Amino acid sequence: MRYISTRGAAPALDFEEALLAGLAADGGLYLPESWPQLDRDQFRRLAGLSYADAAAAVMAPFVGPALAEDELGRLAREAYAGFDHRAVAPLVQLGPADWLLELFHGPTLAFKDYALQLVGRLFDHVLERRGETVTIVGATSGDTGSAAIEACRDRARIRVFILHPKGRVSEVQRRQMTTVLADNVCNIAIMGSFDDCQDLVKAMFADRRFRDEMRLGAVNSINWARVMAQIVYYVTAGVALGAPDRSVAFAVPTGNFGNVFAGYAASRMGLPVAKLVVGSNRNDILTRFFRTGAMEAGEVHATVSPSMDIQISSNFERLLFEFMDRDGSAVADLMGRFRREGTLRLDPSRWRRTTELFDAARFDDEETLATIARVRRETGLLLDPHSAIGVAAGAACRPHASVPLVALATAHPAKFPDAVERATGTRPALPPRLADLHRRPERMTVLPNDLAAVEAFIRGTIAEAAA
Ligand SMILES: *Cc1c(COP(=O)(O)O)cnc(C)c1O
Repeated sequence: MRYISTRGAAPALDFEEALLAGLAADGGLYLPESWPQLDRDQFRRLAGLSYADAAAAVMAPFVGPALAEDELGRLAREAYAGFDHRAVAPLVQLGPADWLLELFHGPTLAFKDYALQLVGRLFDHVLERRGETVTIVGATSGDTGSAAIEACRDRARIRVFILHPKGRVSEVQRRQMTTVLADNVCNIAIMGSFDDCQDLVKAMFADRRFRDEMRLGAVNSINWARVMAQIVYYVTAGVALGAPDRSVAFAVPTGNFGNVFAGYAASRMGLPVAKLVVGSNRNDILTRFFRTGAMEAGEVHATVSPSMDIQISSNFERLLFEFMDRDGSAVADLMGRFRREGTLRLDPSRWRRTTELFDAARFDDEETLATIARVRRETGLLLDPHSAIGVAAGAACRPHASVPLVALATAHPAKFPDAVERATGTRPALPPRLADLHRRPERMTVLPNDLAAVEAFIRGTIAEAAA
């Protein structure tokens, strides 16, 4: 498979190159040149497979010929072996045709593990073959950092530096990062905000000399391999509920649009998807887009679902490319205007086409907490605030009552215990393997919000490790 940029002005790459590049040279995002198709028999055969084997079958056409399907299967089995549910991504029934897809059984209790556990191994495999090493730098406000650290820990060819704003991530989130004492992992607490951390990371990538010298790489959600790995659970859930003979709807709590875009990719591969419902919190730029066809940036508000506190959803550009009939220069124009003017409008006929598949709904904190309380009352289950937005959005935009509706549960309730306790009076407990998290030793380095200081620290750490 070859990969092309959404802005149409970067060279096409093979899978391995797209994996290592992340962002395209023209500022665009990579997408497969065409959508591989699964026929009805292939869908049926997936029903009997383990999650890891189904993952290898779904991803093989995207990855070949860089990795053979059996190699991919081995990496997938390793990636999902540490998950604490045998089904890996189990479906739990909430009502007659309502289901919850639990995506929080990985090491850091959020859905990002499903992609990153595999992507960390793909990186290591490819780097080993090329005899190269990479320095991953990233900024986090919460879930991504811990998932990236868990995915890269103890991998010989990867070093990881994760920046978080000192004192501004939750205690569980901080400890999930700082208690990983692997030699190749380094946590940096920046005396500043999340935006400061993100600006520092961008500045490091823009510093050509530093970037080349350190061989910087990224595992953020614009990396195609992350989207690819997320397609798998849409397919396994769809097949479990009757695909290819029956269509299924999905409701997805959305921030950067990476997760729900994987649902779109599954539908392009032939999975019968009746609807993709986008759930937003108060930061509802996407909901407004699907309601009106216009995207207008505003300011970011803090909510009880912080992993969705985003205004500009980077993966939305991939959808734009699809609905602009893959015209890269038209996408580059739209994105340029959006950056300059803060608005983007799709012509009415294209926008209407998006709404045949997509619908959207937004919920403020009060409605989110009320949903957590209602689901607890009706089913006994505790939802985290992000998952609650998925469930609420599904209920608000449900297609026909007979279509199975799957809401994606993107985090374990114990990851956001304060909100869950506020809604239900019950404080969710961490799973047994994390029960001693609050007693484990932490390691991190506090640095000022200063590019030179951060670069000097990274350089020094790497030189010391090499000595
Ligand atoms: C990252 C995250 C989201 C948002 O997912 P996107 O792919 O960015 O849309 C939702 N819920 C949780 C718990 C997350 O960590």
